[in-house]
Amino acid sequence: MPQSQAFTGVIIVGGGPAGLAAALELARFGVRSVVLERRQTTAWHPKARVLNTRTMEIARGWGAGVYQRLRGIDMPDDWKSPIRFVKSAVGEEIGRIETEGFSGPGDEISPAAPVLSSQDLVEQILYDAALASNLIDLRFGHEAGKVLSGWEDADRAASIEVTGKSSGQIYTLEGSAIVAADGLESPIRDQLGIPLRGERNISHFIGCYFRADIERHLIGRSAIIFFVSNEAATGALQPLDAQGRWLCQIGVTADTWDTKLYDERRCAEWIRAAVGVADLDPEILSIGRWRVNAAVAERFLRGRILICGDAAHLLPPTGGLGVNSGFQGVQNAMWKLALVLQGRAGPELLRTYDLERRPVVEWVVRQSLQNHRDVQSIGAASIGQASDSAPDLVGAARRYGNHLGVELGGNYVSSAVFSDGTAAPEVADPYSDYKPCGRPGHRAPHVWLGRGKEKLSTLDLFGPGFTVLTGARGDGWSLAAKAASAAIGVPVACYRIGRPGLEDNDRVFLDRYGLEQDGAVLVRPDGYVAWRKASGKEMQFDELTNVLSAILDLQGVREIHHQDATRANV
Ligand SMILES: Cc1cc2nc3c(=O)[nH]c(=O)nc-3n(C[C@H](O)[C@H](O)[C@H](O)COP(=O)(O)OP(=O)(O)OC[C@H]3O[C@@H](n4cnc5c(N)ncnc54)[C@H](O)[C@@H]3O)c2cc1C
Repeated sequence: MPQSQAFTGVIIVGGGPAGLAAALELARFGVRSVVLERRQTTAWHPKARVLNTRTMEIARGWGAGVYQRLRGIDMPDDWKSPIRFVKSAVGEEIGRIETEGFSGPGDEISPAAPVLSSQDLVEQILYDAALASNLIDLRFGHEAGKVLSGWEDADRAASIEVTGKSSGQIYTLEGSAIVAADGLESPIRDQLGIPLRGERNISHFIGCYFRADIERHLIGRSAIIFFVSNEAATGALQPLDAQGRWLCQIGVTADTWDTKLYDERRCAEWIRAAVGVADLDPEILSIGRWRVNAAVAERFLRGRILICGDAAHLLPPTGGLGVNSGFQGVQNAMWKLALVLQGRAGPELLRTYDLERRPVVEWVVRQSLQNHRDVQSIGAASIGQASDSAPDLVGAARRYGNHLGVELGGNYVSSAVFSDGTAAPEVADPYSDYKPCGRPGHRAPHVWLGRGKEKLSTLDLFGPGFTVLTGARGDGWSLAAKAASAAIGVPVACYRIGRPGLEDNDRVFLDRYGLEQDGAVLVRPDGYVAWRKASGKEMQFDELTNVLSAILDLQGVREIHHQDATRANV
């Protein structure tokens, strides 16, 4: 008879980036979690390299210590652009894409800048932060098995079978919900019968992590990535620290996708051909294999089970948006889950995770796949296997690495957002270009605020509750926010921008948020604008309370109480 353990927090399956981030986000809202990870340690083989601007904004919420450690593993700025298409790293250059996505838009647009490093280091930092939290129980070396409950809308708990890998002990773990952050093969997604929509196994790669002093041979020719194409090597070379730590992705066919064929000797030969230095002597650190997929789960939620990270979306890595989409999805979902579990929001709020994130991710998947196809066409053209010229193809591939629009400009439409009837700002390319705006559904823009000699960002004012931002004459909103908070039982802070301590020295706040001095916006815990009233002239005192009641689905909370009371009386 398996032993049974029950607790009131969330069971997170997967201790990769998405699972660890989910635990940190839940802890911000005071929610406990157990993280089950079948590996004994965090990953050794580096995969994702880029934490983009939006991810680093989210990381500010995990505390100054985590943020600074992440900043500390960043590569020098001159390695963040361009993407180079070359015959070999030291050989002929066929073309290049100048990119902004990996160096960030600058501190006018965001208080955070991207970090270019490697996933092994990022996971260790998140692991250490989770270990330091008394709300997170890290169980590495524990494998989740059969999901026993939690997928029905009527379920009030979720449970799963677990095996402790060293002890062999099997136990049942029951919590309030399950977050499936169990990676692209997601056993939980399969158990729930949630299909993936899209393409699988599009291309095959051998990934090799190695150490070699390539930098010495480049003589100033740095790049975020070198796409190499010659008779002996097709694939990519990726710097990890500009100090000799590298990854390469060797393009292979389906029938040679085998790490026995691509052993240390063969990988070293490939690296020499790709770099273009015949006597290079790389130290091979690990070899893995992976395939390009472009697919999205048909739903991200069933009952009390949320699908997050690669389990929800499989992205081609061309664009560096895989792990970032995971972090951004987790941040969208966890405040909603926390409020639902605390009985302060109804099930409709949780459903908006699926409604808001799926369209964004589908967009990112399409473009990442296009990037992948563009890279393949450029490679074929550069060895004379395509009719188009390689430089023309490079010119057309501009969106690769230039994704600020989708990163910061994405727009959510759901019951957790109140439209104010205005149109989204026009930009030349919504995928690449971003224009700050305070329209409901958008990321609340960053504005530097003066506090004596110090400065802080508007983004630092958000969470873990809701936040009202108003101008210097918005006195009435402070009282309305207090009343709303008391009525709904969720913290609602109110800040009057332009007053001492929150000085708008550059005089951009009102314009960026689309407000008059007495107007207000309501910002959600994830930093997205939920509602806006441009002017306070027709302000109604209970308007905020009504808006928040609808966003939080308080009607749903009442119905659940009613159902539970009815059940108890039967
Ligand atoms: C070559 C390559 C390059 C990439 N480059 C980039 C990039 O530049 N930028 C980017 O954003 N993304 C990139 N990615 C994608 C990125 O690596 C993934 O998006 C990221 O690892 C996903 O994180 P995750 O936590 O969702 O899943 P994973 O990292 O896969 O973690 C899932 C975890 O769940 C665990 N697990 C699974 N099943 C169970 C179970 N039953 N019980 C317990 N534990 C379980 C696994 O052991 C694993 O540790 C790249 C991927 C590859 C392959």
